[in-house]
Amino acid sequence: MDVTSVLDGLNERQREAVTSPQGNSLVIAGAGSGKTRVLVHRVAWLIQIEGVSPNGLMAVTFTNKAAAEMRSRIEELLNMSGQTLWVGTFHGLAHRLLRMHWQEAGLPQNFQILDADDQLRLVKRIMRDQGIDEQKWPARQAVWFINSQKDEGKRSKEIPVSDDLFQITHKKIYENYERLCNQGGLVDFAELLLRSHELWLENPSLLRHYQERFQSILVDEFQDTNTIQYAWLRVLAGDHSNVMAVGDDDQSIYGWRGAKMENIHRFKEDFQKTMVIRLEQNYRSTATVLKAANALIGNNQDRLGKELWTDGPEGEPIQVYSAYNDLDEARFIAERVQAWIATGGSSGEVAVLYRSNAQSRVLEEAMLRAQIPYRIYGGQRFFERAEIKNALSYMRLLHDRHSDPAFERVINIPTRGIGDKTLEAVRNQARTQSVSLWKAAEDLIEMSSAGARVTEKIGGFLRLIDMMRHETHDMDLHELADYTIQKSGLMEFHGRERGERGLARKENLEELVSACREFSGELVFPLGQETGEETTILEEFLDQVVLDSGDRQAEGGPALQMMTLHSAKGLEFPLVFLSGMEEGLFPHQMSAQEPGRMEEERRLCYVGITRAMQQLYLTYAESRRMHGSDTYNRPSRFIAELPTELLQQIRIKSSLGYPKKKSVSPSGGSIRPLIDEAAIGLRMGQRVRHAKFGEGVVTQAEGSGERARVQIRFSNVGSKWLMLGIAKIEPLE
Ligand code: ATP
Ligand code: MG
Repeated sequence: MDVTSVLDGLNERQREAVTSPQGNSLVIAGAGSGKTRVLVHRVAWLIQIEGVSPNGLMAVTFTNKAAAEMRSRIEELLNMSGQTLWVGTFHGLAHRLLRMHWQEAGLPQNFQILDADDQLRLVKRIMRDQGIDEQKWPARQAVWFINSQKDEGKRSKEIPVSDDLFQITHKKIYENYERLCNQGGLVDFAELLLRSHELWLENPSLLRHYQERFQSILVDEFQDTNTIQYAWLRVLAGDHSNVMAVGDDDQSIYGWRGAKMENIHRFKEDFQKTMVIRLEQNYRSTATVLKAANALIGNNQDRLGKELWTDGPEGEPIQVYSAYNDLDEARFIAERVQAWIATGGSSGEVAVLYRSNAQSRVLEEAMLRAQIPYRIYGGQRFFERAEIKNALSYMRLLHDRHSDPAFERVINIPTRGIGDKTLEAVRNQARTQSVSLWKAAEDLIEMSSAGARVTEKIGGFLRLIDMMRHETHDMDLHELADYTIQKSGLMEFHGRERGERGLARKENLEELVSACREFSGELVFPLGQETGEETTILEEFLDQVVLDSGDRQAEGGPALQMMTLHSAKGLEFPLVFLSGMEEGLFPHQMSAQEPGRMEEERRLCYVGITRAMQQLYLTYAESRRMHGSDTYNRPSRFIAELPTELLQQIRIKSSLGYPKKKSVSPSGGSIRPLIDEAAIGLRMGQRVRHAKFGEGVVTQAEGSGERARVQIRFSNVGSKWLMLGIAKIEPLE
């Protein structure tokens, strides 16, 4: 391969960045200007032209999905296998290091990664043991405290002693948490970074090894690195590495989780002779979308300041839809997606974005009803569903009986009549003897200090696990998974749940077996290759599940993607919906209280808008059911910040008489009778004017097409039913 093919499809500025001489560089540029593309080509350039060994490269991306994407693009460009490349997220790479150097890092070989759920459970347990009142000190807050200390690189002992009760309490929880994690070989997400950072600092020769190895380090989405990630990078780079960081200050959206935009400024000081490159041409979006994004972000004070331009087409105006309520909003979106598909588009080209995960369920239902295939990215993810976590806990115990989180999760699932008191005795024994729950249970049985009935029940559980371990010894991963869900009794247990729910749970468990079958084929980092050590595929699978929980999704054909605005970072879609554009929801009400947060919300909106390639919709609902009660919100200020000439308020009348199939629920049964408002062209609650009766509000509707009728409550003459095909009804704003 030659120089030209590595530089194909790059503009002048991008080429400059890709071919820049070895050294440090910072690419600061707006959305869709090709930053990620530059990074990929830079990797190819380094390997192909500069002769850097693929082993000498590290590339850090924001999600595992982005890492996989980068790997495959590099494979394509260079026609080589990307398996050995160190491309991954900060967490993924740190995890890899710890697995390779567990001894130096002071971890047991089979240390287990804790996900958010496990972490919360553990903190709750500590608080209970310590007699800390959860009413007064919410466990989530304690988790937040621990994580943010770790993100700042702080161990519990480094937290200053003070007389502030908040600090005293949380320091105590953190200390106990640290102790239990060390004892049980448990590593949470923040710990991965902190621990591997310490690993280097405490093992200079190891650090030197990696500093010499990684001559080139590349980082995407640099604006969202936090303190410990930055320190990690800084230490690894040493004084000789060549670091390329790409990012966009306008897309910094993780300040609330400790990300430091200032790292962009620090970079220039900390990394010698940094060359700064700016890209300004956008290749992703239409001019309309881009103008809207520029106008919106122009309202922020705290920015480096840059404008994006495109020589692409003007594109369609941005469509704004004011829905009657959240159901109407979801139905509207589903209908527009159907129209997109009907005119030759694919569901895979569509993204529906929202501020809060709680919005997804109603949207999901609308997609199901409209029979649009969809995938949820983030939120209640597959691997976080209760039945899946139960199955994984059994699998975890087969791998390591001493895993406390797994033990605690499934000892009584399916129900074995092991009560709280018994469990408390096991926990107590574990605590006083500093042993795992498994060991504690064994000891209790041996000392026969527990009653015969209890001994019988716990003993039964221990024997079951041992038996399963023995039986699965030689199995392939998917056989093991299948065996586990059957023998553990989970399949039967979850299947007994009534109706749809039980069915869905059974399907999910079956899906797990398929996921296991696929897994061996898609190993991202076969660890054994590098360490020469045996890691079982079961262990790699269990780790990968936790690491991926942020962005893994069921595979399959094209499907609409639903996700939070946060997880949409770096992605692009021809058709994008930003739903729930309401004050209090987006911008989120939390942002009103904290200074700086409003600007972060605006950046989040900027991220959302700039995901759209061809067409953007903004939707909001006049009323919305949130957490069980109805809320009435004003339209988001962000809509008002967009130039009106770019917007088009959707006139429902234009869809008058639009024919529509009768909707059927996916299970085949009938759904609650729905008035198909969109099909008759007017919304519930909409204000209208009639030539003779004056102004009124739509209160009911029925029929469709020519037979559509609506009931309107007129201010002057009361309610009347009118035929849409005949009556002259004009919708008002
Ligand atoms: P974000 O800030 O959202 O992460 P980005 O700056 O990383 O965006 P990319 O995702 O790399 O941007 O690029 C945006 C789109 O523009 C992609 O579809 C990419 O393939 C395309 N693109 C980038 N550079 C060029 C170019 N020189 N010619 C044609 N298309 C390009
Ligand atoms: Mg990008």
